[in-house]
Amino acid sequence: MGVSKNFFLDNPDLRFQIESLPWEDIAPYIAPFPAEQDAIKSRGAELREQAKEFLTTLGEYIATQIAPYAKELDEQHPREDAGEVYDAPRMKKIVEGFGQLGAPALCLPAHCGGMDAPWLMVAIIMELLARADTSVATFFGFHDGPAHTLLTQALEDGEFEHEDGVLTKTPWDDIVRGIAERGEFGAMVLTEPGAGSDLAVIATKATLAADDTWRINGSKIWITCGHGEHLLVLARSEEKGASPGLKGLSLFYVPAHVTKDGKRVRNVELGTIEKKMGQSSLVTATLNFNDSEARLVGQRGHGFRLMLLFMNSARLAVGFEGIGICEAALRMAVDFAKERVTMGKPIIEHEMIADFIDDMESSIAAMRALAYRASIDEELASRISYFLKVKPPQNEKERMALEKKAKQKKRDARIKTPLVKYLGSEEGVRMTRLAMQIMGGVGYMKEYGAEKLLRDSLIGPIYEGTSQIQSLMVLKDHLQRAMRNPALFLAAHAKAKLETVHSLDSVHAAYARIKSIYFSAVQTILTQMVVDKFGDLKGQPLLHFKPAFLASWNPKKDFSFGLLHAERFTKIAAMRAASKELVRQADAKKGESEYAFRRQVAERYMNRSEPRMRGLLLEIEHTRTSIFRRPGQKKHTKHEAHANS
Ligand SMILES: Cc1cc2nc3c(=O)[nH]c(=O)nc-3n(C[C@H](O)[C@H](O)[C@H](O)COP(=O)(O)OP(=O)(O)OC[C@H]3O[C@@H](n4cnc5c(N)ncnc54)[C@H](O)[C@@H]3O)c2cc1C
Repeated sequence: MGVSKNFFLDNPDLRFQIESLPWEDIAPYIAPFPAEQDAIKSRGAELREQAKEFLTTLGEYIATQIAPYAKELDEQHPREDAGEVYDAPRMKKIVEGFGQLGAPALCLPAHCGGMDAPWLMVAIIMELLARADTSVATFFGFHDGPAHTLLTQALEDGEFEHEDGVLTKTPWDDIVRGIAERGEFGAMVLTEPGAGSDLAVIATKATLAADDTWRINGSKIWITCGHGEHLLVLARSEEKGASPGLKGLSLFYVPAHVTKDGKRVRNVELGTIEKKMGQSSLVTATLNFNDSEARLVGQRGHGFRLMLLFMNSARLAVGFEGIGICEAALRMAVDFAKERVTMGKPIIEHEMIADFIDDMESSIAAMRALAYRASIDEELASRISYFLKVKPPQNEKERMALEKKAKQKKRDARIKTPLVKYLGSEEGVRMTRLAMQIMGGVGYMKEYGAEKLLRDSLIGPIYEGTSQIQSLMVLKDHLQRAMRNPALFLAAHAKAKLETVHSLDSVHAAYARIKSIYFSAVQTILTQMVVDKFGDLKGQPLLHFKPAFLASWNPKKDFSFGLLHAERFTKIAAMRAASKELVRQADAKKGESEYAFRRQVAERYMNRSEPRMRGLLLEIEHTRTSIFRRPGQKKHTKHEAHANS
């Protein structure tokens, strides 16, 4: 099978994305903040060249120093000794090598030993690494992740100093420096035995001791890189009565070790190290906190808000991880299908196999287009917010316009992030399964790596918020957007319908049909929710629903029909969003040599997506009511479940 020497240079679609990223849009918000058009343009070009140069080096390193050891990583496990946990030998070697290349410091600030590169680079590296091995990609995420979270808090809450916009001090510099310069890493510590998707029931307690220091008590489970030094822990600091649920949570920095009587001792006890179906080399640990010393991050009661800020980029990163897995699956499948001959020809020439591969190729291009756009939105949102703090435009009108832009980018990133996470992780599972099928019996054997890819992919839809939790977020955001301005929504729907008939451009007509299906899904869900609430309102326009609907809105009951279809709807919304980006990328190349090819990529993806979306819409339309309102339908209660077991 083909062995790549460079994961960046051998990937034309990835190189196209890097080339097309609007680096010039970020340039004005990176110190020294170029203002003139020429300076912005040349800074943008410089950022693009730097990225390509770094990715070329990294692409070679990953292809030659990490990918060949994927099997070894799969067979090795972390080692426990005297209360400490040590990485498996191959993982240790890879992480050290990666540190020497400077990758963990890439996007951290220069005053802490970092290179101040855009966060986008983390996303790209996640894709490259995951193509080699997902456990390495995830481990890499736990270098940048904790540092990124602490810095985000300092910037959000204005706890920093700067010189001409260049960061010079934050309260977290020692920790960030340890990550950038000393190869340290950390973990994000949320989950408990009773609290996974539902973080509102977190029980781990944070108490302010008489000496004004915080102490943490409780247990957390399944913590990736739980053997790391820098732990960011979500714990309950407020009384339940006054601040129930998520409002009672604060974020804490907890060092894994402290110095007592001149000796370095554990501040947090390491419990069980899990054996998992994939990512074997990666530590997944129980952490026990027994009066562990802690430092509050940000303000009391703001823990969940801060965690959400971090989760946006963490979820994007998991989406990118999914794209890397898909790329690995595709390449493995294509290599095999070119060589394996059945019925007189290579299986890649059999229609069904060729169709699988075509599906994989166009879906990967679509995911990539969407994911890179989402990362640019995220990058711009945080960079403009920082710029507004350190160099706000003196002209009031300009300042207000920039504030509006920052808010818009934040909204754009928020809308796209769960779609990227959902699509990347679910497609990872689908495509590794397809690769296994293409490889037949060889795919099932451990020796060839396809079954490892499938095992590794299965965590994507679970961590950083399950696919169902992403779907709830997608549904809520999209329905709210339609309800906020029903007139605008209906006008957009009508316009899309008209375009399906009148657009002379085949790519735009295809996208209009895609949009129209999406709008129909929103309208069907909203209408059925109203019918569920008020009875038969057939024939009444959506515009009339809003006042009555919102007047007595009960999210627990009234959302029921939407909740039933949240995942189907998310698939529709994701295919629509990815199609939009492919069309945008094709249009941007008008007049250039790549134009015809990019149109073809968009068309191939939309030709597959349209019937899939129609099928999902049909499923939604044919379920006339919420599952709990169907005649004879009984809710399974906890009591019954126990009685049956
Ligand atoms: C390998 C691994 C690594 C992990 N790493 C970390 C880590 O580093 N830090 C950390 O804090 N946690 C970590 N986790 C925990 C992970 O984030 C949780 O497993 C995840 O959030 C889901 O929680 P749960 O497993 O308790 O499932 P539950 O919340 O019990 O959910 C069970 C099922 O019900 C569904 N569900 C739940 N609520 C709803 C709803 N309202 N509507 C519809 N469906 C719903 C879920 O989608 C899921 O399918 C890790 C887990 C694993 C397996």
